[in-house]
Parts: sequence; structure tokens; C-alpha cells
Amino acid sequence: MILIKSLREMLSWVETQKKSGQKIGFVPTMGALHQGHISLVQKSKEENDLTIVSVFVNPTQFNNADDLKKYPRTEDADTQLLEDAGCDAVFFPKIEDIYPNGEKSENYNFEGIENQMEGKFRPGHFDGVATVVRRFFEIIQPDKAYFGEKDFQQLRIIQELVQQLNLPLQIVPVPIMRESDGLAMSSRNTRLTEEMREESPKIHQILREAKIFLQNHSVQETKEFVQNQFNATKLDLEYFEIADEKTLESVSEKENSENLRGFLAVFAGEIRLIDNIDLG
Ligand code: AMP
Repeated sequence: MILIKSLREMLSWVETQKKSGQKIGFVPTMGALHQGHISLVQKSKEENDLTIVSVFVNPTQFNNADDLKKYPRTEDADTQLLEDAGCDAVFFPKIEDIYPNGEKSENYNFEGIENQMEGKFRPGHFDGVATVVRRFFEIIQPDKAYFGEKDFQQLRIIQELVQQLNLPLQIVPVPIMRESDGLAMSSRNTRLTEEMREESPKIHQILREAKIFLQNHSVQETKEFVQNQFNATKLDLEYFEIADEKTLESVSEKENSENLRGFLAVFAGEIRLIDNIDLG
């Protein structure tokens, strides 16, 4: 695996691979890698000649300065994990490689998808995500790029970005990887206290209960059920929405949509976690 630490090296690697007709699969990450990230790498290895991962904690997508400061950074362990996974190249860009004109986001309009859920609670977050991903696509020119359903709204934003700008690549969604107790793998899990780590599998448990409950109850009743279930835990529910998978608009009646998904954000102590479940 080759380690790429400058934009110049990165551009020259891409040029070489493109000239020899190699199909490039790309996995953008913020590091602190775990098996969830590795599942994206594995999928990319199956579908491409070469797989490249970027590791970059993107400042413009953080709406909370403390969250950015405390975001885990584990470069050496990340490199080892990627090497073991058979990744071909890893790109650790410098901030000025990604933001040559200063650390700011472009403004995007994604048909309202950006204003739902995470967009409501994390103002500016998706402008930051779209800005950094577009820049990586411009540099790396991948044939396919891999995004986890763990961040389902982010995945939808990137699909819209590619469609709006007519970018010549395919976005591949990858299912959520969970710990054996059901907790969705996340770089932020390492920051949970012991008490909150024990409590946090209830997130997925409640989502699964909600899926069953919805079969015989209304959307409103299900939302109340979820809130009540969380009230009986040490977790603090920020939002739970039942939304259409395409538009991400919340629905008030389940009959109105075929493809529903339940989305939530929860505070486990100071750590904010997100998860979602297919309600189809
Ligand atoms: P992050 O490093 O958190 O920005 O995540 C990088 C990519 O890995 C994103 O496409 C995430 O959706 C994906 N990812 C993170 N956690 C998981 C998980 N538990 N299962 C599947 N994909 C994940």
C-alpha cells in the first residue's frame, strides 16, 4: 500500500493509473477507522482494480468546535488496518490541499434533503460534506465511490451532488456494520464512557422494536413509542423521524410512502450518535 501525503503525489498517482486504464474505487473517511470503514474498502476491492482511501478530518462539516477538536485521530492504526485490508493507497491530505482558498464551504441546494434531520440539527454540515467530497472527486477522479448507509442522509446528499453536477462516477451504498450487540460502528464510539457504552446497544434495539410496532400502529403512535422507550434509558433522544428514503421528508402517514426509514440522533452522555433502520 502506498502512503500519499501531498497533493502533487496524489495527482501524479491518479494520472499514472488513469493512463494504464485502471478502475479506481474511492472510500472517503475521517479516520479512526473500524470494520465499518473496512466493509467499504472490501466492497471497493471487489468492484475495482485499485482502491484508495482518504483520511481527512474535514473542519467545514463540524458545527461544534469541541467535537472537531476531540474527534479521534489514529493515523498509524488506520494505516495498519488499511494495509491489512489490502487497500492500494491511502491519501492523508493537508488542509491547504483541500482548501487552497481558505477553509470555507460552498453553498448547495439539494431539493430540501439538506434541511431535514441532521441538516436541521447541524447547520452547514452538509455544505461542508458536499464541498469536501466534490474536491476529493476532482482530485482522485474515481470510477466508483463508496458511502455507508450509517450516514444515510449524507449518502443521499452525495447521490444528489453527483446527479446535479453530472459527475462521471457511480455512488455505491454499503449497509451498516454493527457491533455484535447491535451498536452501529462509529469512530465516536471510542469516546463513550463505560456506562454509556453499555447503554448504547438500546439504540438499535429500540429501532427494531419501532419497526415491529409500526406494523400495527400509526406513525405518530410509533414516534411516541420510541420517545417513551428512550425515556426509560440513560440515553437522550434528540430526534426520531420516519421519512421517505428518497426525499427524506418526514411522513405523517405510512400509507403515503413505499420506502420508509426510521432515523434518529441520540446523546449518550456528551457523545452524539446517529442510526437508522429500514422500515420496509
Ligand atoms: P466517517 O469516517 O465517519 O466520515 O465515515 C466514512 C464512511 O464510512 C462514510 O461513508 C460512513 O457512512 C461509512 N461508515 C461509517 N461507519 C459505518 C458503519 N458502521 N457501517 C457502514 N459504513 C460506515
